[in-house]
Amino acid sequence: RRWIADSWDEATASLTGEQASHLIRVLRAQPGMEFDIVAGDRVWHAVIAGISGDSVRFNLLAEEKADPALPVTLLLSVFRFERMEWAIEKATELGVERVLPVIARRSEKHLAQSAKTRAERWRRIAREAAKQSRRSDVPVIDDPLPLKTALQQEKQGARLLLAEQERSTTLRHALTEALAASGDQMPLISMAVGPEGGWTAEEEALFDAEGWKPVSLGPRILRAETAAMTAMAVTAALLE
Ligand code: SAM
Repeated sequence: RRWIADSWDEATASLTGEQASHLIRVLRAQPGMEFDIVAGDRVWHAVIAGISGDSVRFNLLAEEKADPALPVTLLLSVFRFERMEWAIEKATELGVERVLPVIARRSEKHLAQSAKTRAERWRRIAREAAKQSRRSDVPVIDDPLPLKTALQQEKQGARLLLAEQERSTTLRHALTEALAASGDQMPLISMAVGPEGGWTAEEEALFDAEGWKPVSLGPRILRAETAAMTAMAVTAALLE
């Protein structure tokens, strides 16, 4: 397990709160014991230098090889929260860099209204999943935005609208093209998953006007969370 530092400098790092109390009370941490610490976007092998109250101080010993996120933003329409939480957890395990929740036309009204208050919980789920899968960073989870506003923010890289349509190319094909076009660099990828009722025609037109390309994951209709996870898995398989 990697521990995520609450504060750090070039030579030391500190953990407070829940993580520190777990170290002290459950793992009976003592000065001299060694752990892996994530400090910002770097991972360190570190030794406990001191424990005071509910805080654990480390000396950083050696930097470990970082395992960076995939340069992927998942634009995730708001859908049933338990399924959405699952999607955020799995996308984090699979290396997503950023999740941008959007209020789609067919996001259920009561979910759309309470989505704002959920973002903190989604961030906690992402933090836990990042720790669990030994990621050296935690994906950014934005506050939910209306689709139009969200699309204004996503102007770079390959932008792929997941839509189960006959005219779509496959996600695999679109990613292969993006890889070829980006040369030595990792391509930037954004992928958008619709709500349970799918995107409306107006939303699809909006994506189209902003240069998003419809891509398919095959002939079967997947639940939104399955689509999100499959898209991440296909991307990870091709990019890594
Ligand atoms: N009844 C809805 C419709 O016909 O649009 C189904 C929506 S599906 C449950 C939720 C979202 O998952 C879709 O908006 C799309 O983004 C994604 N999705 C589901 N199956 C897919 C597939 N085979 N290919 C690409 N995206 C898919």
